[in-house]
Amino acid sequence: MNDNQQYRPGVMEYIKKAEKFLAKKETHMKFMKSLKFDTIAVHGLYSVEEAINNNQGAVIEPLYLSTSQAYRDSDELEAALAYLIPTWCYTRIANPTTYYLEWVLALLEGYQTGYDTSCLVTSSGMSAIMSAVDPFLVKQKEGQESINFVSSIQLYGGTFQHFSVRKMQERGIEVRWVLHPEDINDWKEKIDENTRFLYVEAPSNPQQSFCDVKSLADLAHSWEIPFIFDSTCATPALLRPIAYGTDIVIHSLTKTITSGGLAIGGALISRKPIVSKIKNDNLLFKESFAEYVKFFPYRDNGPASSPMNALFAINDLRTLRSKVDLVSKNCQKVADFLSNHPRVSKVDYLGHPSFHLHQLAKKYMKLVDSDDGTGENVNRYGHLMSFHVEGPPENARKVFDKFKIIFRATDLGRIKSVATIPAISTHQQQGEEARKMADIPPQLIRLCVGAENPDDIIGDLDQALRSL
Ligand SMILES: *Cc1c(COP(=O)(O)O)cnc(C)c1O
Repeated sequence: MNDNQQYRPGVMEYIKKAEKFLAKKETHMKFMKSLKFDTIAVHGLYSVEEAINNNQGAVIEPLYLSTSQAYRDSDELEAALAYLIPTWCYTRIANPTTYYLEWVLALLEGYQTGYDTSCLVTSSGMSAIMSAVDPFLVKQKEGQESINFVSSIQLYGGTFQHFSVRKMQERGIEVRWVLHPEDINDWKEKIDENTRFLYVEAPSNPQQSFCDVKSLADLAHSWEIPFIFDSTCATPALLRPIAYGTDIVIHSLTKTITSGGLAIGGALISRKPIVSKIKNDNLLFKESFAEYVKFFPYRDNGPASSPMNALFAINDLRTLRSKVDLVSKNCQKVADFLSNHPRVSKVDYLGHPSFHLHQLAKKYMKLVDSDDGTGENVNRYGHLMSFHVEGPPENARKVFDKFKIIFRATDLGRIKSVATIPAISTHQQQGEEARKMADIPPQLIRLCVGAENPDDIIGDLDQALRSL
């Protein structure tokens, strides 16, 4: 900050004080990084010292509902609003409760990746996606300019709509769909000098598509563009894409991370720095993309998270690793049952040895801080799976309508087992042709297995299938 001289002495005082605070935060962050995943998930950056000195000793992160922060004097106000000191000023920009969530997510996605990370929490997964992609879709020169990005077509229905309607139809940005994200050549053929980023969702909802994370990050970087990865289904407990060079990770916090199901939320976590050839004068753009988005476009666009929702997410994710372990094991058991059931024609689950992407997923999907006895992490594949009910689409509806324990809802990532028929719900809007391309037939039931005893879920499925 060379131009500090232009600020009043009072403002300079606040900047000096902030530097001390930041140095302390840095030291504490280093300490947290030396700890294990579970410890980070339970504590985040909320230390004993912070509780005692700043929060009346509260053991749990406090909920700050106040929409704004008061300042001591005009100098502090000026320093804060010019972003010269860390501040939260107004909940649309920042909030102390949301701050704890942002940092715990940054630490968990960065865990043992060898990279520093930063995070922005948003009101929903969709607004995290919008916030992540928009800064790369800006004009770079005068006059006509054709812009494209390359994305796998196996996406959450809302993301497909956002890309095909909001970007392609409304803004004329070309979306080049990759039908087989596991095939690197499919991507190579579609990239050119006007491509702004590569986008993937893996494992995808609901098809369980997957990709070679490292090769795709390398491919993106060979074109000097970022690789953006929706990692909602994996969560950092099973995969940290940044370890393989991914630039930006997206989460719908609404799902497995907030498995209790009481809050909508999204997150954008970026590697420091990201790769991009977009011209942007702001140093943060490349150095700390999530913070760039937070302080500028997000501030101006307004998709802020509610601090209440942030606290629900903080509370649920403390036990993320053990929960994901449990529900993955439950899902594996249910998938094994279904794949031997005479009324089921096909099971899509990455954990199933006969599934065509099993070997690829096996390379990447591993429970963090686990040990299989030989020093390797154990493979876990999450709690989302799909199965195809034998016969006409009507059969899938019949089975679905018979569930007694499993909830019928367009939801996933829950502590409770939830199922949907994507063709008539989450993926209804995209139409039959796009569903075909994305491999979502009407016989497919998506099932996300919760933390119930899996034998009871198997019993529920069995009685429903037997009713055919
Ligand atoms: C649900 C979901 C989203 C959208 O998140 P919201 O929080 O519902 O806005 C994005 N990606 C995936 C993979 C999802 O499952």
